[in-house]
Amino acid sequence: MILTQIDAAKPRTKRWWRSPRLVRHGVMLFFFLFLLHVAWEHQVKGGGPNGTPSVEAYCPFGGVESLYQFLTTGGYIRRVEPSAMVLLGAVLLLTLVFSRGFCGWVCPFGSLQEWLGMAGRKIFGRRYNPGGQWERRLRYLKYVVLAAIVGMTWHLGALVFRPYDPFLAFFHLGAGTAEMPFAYAVLAVVLLGSLRYERFFCKYACPLGAVIGIVGKFGLTRVTRSEEGCKSCNLCEKKCFAHIEVGTKDAVREAECNHCLECVAHCPKPNVLSLRGAGWTFSHARYGVLLVAGLLGTIGVSQAVGYWHTKPAAVAFTDAAGKPDPEQIRGWMTLGEIARGYGIPLERLYAGAGLPAKVAAGTRLNQVARTYGLGFEPDRMRTVVASILSGTAAPAPHPAAAPEGGPGKHAEGEEIRGFMTLNEIALKSGVPVEWLTRRLELPAGIDARQPVREWMHANGKSIQDLRQAVADYRARR
Ligand code: SF4
Ligand code: SF4
Repeated sequence: MILTQIDAAKPRTKRWWRSPRLVRHGVMLFFFLFLLHVAWEHQVKGGGPNGTPSVEAYCPFGGVESLYQFLTTGGYIRRVEPSAMVLLGAVLLLTLVFSRGFCGWVCPFGSLQEWLGMAGRKIFGRRYNPGGQWERRLRYLKYVVLAAIVGMTWHLGALVFRPYDPFLAFFHLGAGTAEMPFAYAVLAVVLLGSLRYERFFCKYACPLGAVIGIVGKFGLTRVTRSEEGCKSCNLCEKKCFAHIEVGTKDAVREAECNHCLECVAHCPKPNVLSLRGAGWTFSHARYGVLLVAGLLGTIGVSQAVGYWHTKPAAVAFTDAAGKPDPEQIRGWMTLGEIARGYGIPLERLYAGAGLPAKVAAGTRLNQVARTYGLGFEPDRMRTVVASILSGTAAPAPHPAAAPEGGPGKHAEGEEIRGFMTLNEIALKSGVPVEWLTRRLELPAGIDARQPVREWMHANGKSIQDLRQAVADYRARR
């Protein structure tokens, strides 16, 4: 109540550093630059225990994708770190208090779209923001996208959206164009679309926005309108990217409202529109400070209790039984680390992988192709190491020996990897899970959503057994 009185008594300030819109864009810029910095460092230093985490560690949607796994097994889907679950919890809690403010103030991908929309207005000389029945129906698409991603991800135990994720593509800074071509195609559509349509991806396709929109319906804060003083100029609706009819409502309850407060900032009459909740009135600055403090405070608490992990704690080269396990190889490992970790002479590793001597031992696997112009696939190193350890020859031909753009097809069965789940293998290979379980004589109760490397050794199986089972099924047909 005291805060309400203080706010009402204050005249609207003209000082630039307290311009309401600048406060929000300052907060947006802070989070955008932070993530850009993380993305840049990740590309330069690589990931792993001694590197910089991937931007995926800072995306709350990873928590949504891993939620089922987390609740049923306490673990995470591959590539999802505990920090994503912390962020999901923080965002949901904050949304219950501050409604959909995460989208309007924090999300770097939402900010990028908004800034592109502002640039688009300058380029095209006008605001292009279609409305109407069809446009409104199209917004339900994001709930379909959410349901499809969550259903598939929870069933397969793998990140099915990753190859199409435009957020990830943008913050890979162009480094993964070959790794995720579809994601870059989606990104191009989103960036171009955002120039013409305000918050293009947010409105129609963002699965995280769909989650936050649903939860935000129960949020405490609302943009409210006082009938008294409103001159029905409709400027609020014109400024709203979501076409919410602010000028005819007492309070905005739409899931689309991201608390950007553009309507409040543009209202020509003071105190007609305001952001309220739990008896408080929030200025831009107060809302921004509380939102940021809430988010950073939750992260701080999770750090204090030791639950904030953005990257793997240690490099492992062995399985749970202490046996050398080539499935532990990751793209951020250097050739030297792999040679040392598995006790393989460097020259032998190079010969097996078909790498020329000019490739430095300190090169990370995922940098070999780009740095040396070779058609080298990091994933192939697992097969090479497995072959060396077992004393057999790696299957020829070596894609590594080919120039970039040369043959890069997997040898028969090589697309089956230890990090995959049985459900994922079944989807990719077309071999039914039941057939694989029967063929491999696996005990009942194997979780088809767990990576196979987590249970295959304990059941006396190897990745070669799985590949052989797939090959046998294909040979029968
Ligand atoms: S809708 Fe999605 S992309 Fe847009 S701001 Fe929200 S979370 Fe970010
Ligand atoms: S109603 Fe106001 S605060 Fe909500 S999205 Fe529209 S302009 Fe932003």
